[in-house]
Amino acid sequence: MDRSTAFPGAPAGDAGRAVVVGAGVGGLAAALALRRAGWSVEVVERRNTLERYGTAFGIHPTAQSALDRLGLGDALRASAVPYRRAHIRRPDGTALAALPLARIERKAGRPELLVSRPRLIDALAAELDRLGGVPVRHGRRWAADADRTGGADLVVGADGIHSAVRTALFGSRSGVRTLGTTAWIGIADFETGVHGETWGDGRFFGITPVEPGRTNWYATVPAGTTADGLRAAFDGWHHPIPRILAETDPAGWIRYEMRHLHPALPSFTDGRRTVLVGDAAHAMTPNLGQGACTALLDAEALGRAVAARGRAGLPAALRAYDRERRRSAQRVAFGSRTLHRFASARRPALRDALVGLLPG
Ligand SMILES: Cc1cc2nc3c(=O)[nH]c(=O)nc-3n(C[C@H](O)[C@H](O)[C@H](O)COP(=O)(O)OP(=O)(O)OC[C@H]3O[C@@H](n4cnc5c(N)ncnc54)[C@H](O)[C@@H]3O)c2cc1C
Repeated sequence: MDRSTAFPGAPAGDAGRAVVVGAGVGGLAAALALRRAGWSVEVVERRNTLERYGTAFGIHPTAQSALDRLGLGDALRASAVPYRRAHIRRPDGTALAALPLARIERKAGRPELLVSRPRLIDALAAELDRLGGVPVRHGRRWAADADRTGGADLVVGADGIHSAVRTALFGSRSGVRTLGTTAWIGIADFETGVHGETWGDGRFFGITPVEPGRTNWYATVPAGTTADGLRAAFDGWHHPIPRILAETDPAGWIRYEMRHLHPALPSFTDGRRTVLVGDAAHAMTPNLGQGACTALLDAEALGRAVAARGRAGLPAALRAYDRERRRSAQRVAFGSRTLHRFASARRPALRDALVGLLPG
């Protein structure tokens, strides 16, 4: 049984009509939250199918609670693995510090989980199917009309870092800022007992569990490093890094430009009928592993805010959502960016000395 479900699954259409733009984690979760709040919901997605590729997401206990309230906690736990023990290391394998996973588990009473992106997308889509009445219209690219809403009571921009909904609300004052680094990410078809991040000179390598028999990995290098260059960049690093790169097929690696939204938005809503969630609102670097978590927290908070106030109270609900989520998500984005800078520092001696002072 889920620990607590805030949204009972009211009949669709009682509250209002929402259009959710984007069928990624943020959009599907927002559709679910609004549907559970009694709204009639339609999702529009520019791609022709749900994209089921991607590697692993860390799901922090706070995001797990959000999934519990959305009725998806059991599905998550069935397809996720706990993340309990990991270290920050030097390229020669020396451990500098433990990641604070034990502390997180002690404080929350449950561990951080890791789940593959396809499984999370499938779980969200299956729950929407189970509730019924949430069409996902594929192959439709949202574009702003005169009043931005297409006649809906609410438009939710869950359309990712290049959000058209955000541009319609705020123009191009905030946009994508690249950081001069590229991440290559992938899954290896074997397990390794070595988890955590290894920090070198201007590059780092991460290894986490993802599901039985498989290992999630990511490697961050200066922008422009090719797949061939990646193996050379980590040659001579500790086990199992060279093995992971040698035994996975570069055709299956995913390239990901490190980027974030800059400057931070002054609001996640127009305070009337449009609201932003997930990367559209606060795209961040993946260093803290919070991209999916923050999108889930946004979606659940939005559902809760509108459920509490009904259609007549929508402007107040959107302002309450903004108050609950904006500062918090922007703080996480800032922390993630700072960690990115720290982990990919050149001449890392001082950094390593500082990390070595962290509690083990
Ligand atoms: C295919 C894919 C694979 C990913 N893999 C990983 C991964 O392995 N590891 C990781 O850390 N992060 C990954 N990410 C990023 C991660 O999913 C997000 O950072 C996080 O989950 C927040 O999700 P989001 O729903 O806000 O944005 P996104 O996941 O970017 O979803 C936005 C959705 O909106 C759609 N869209 C955009 N513009 C429009 C428009 N005008 N009209 C209609 N639809 C539109 C997009 O097609 C997309 O489906 C991936 C994202 C995608 C899209």
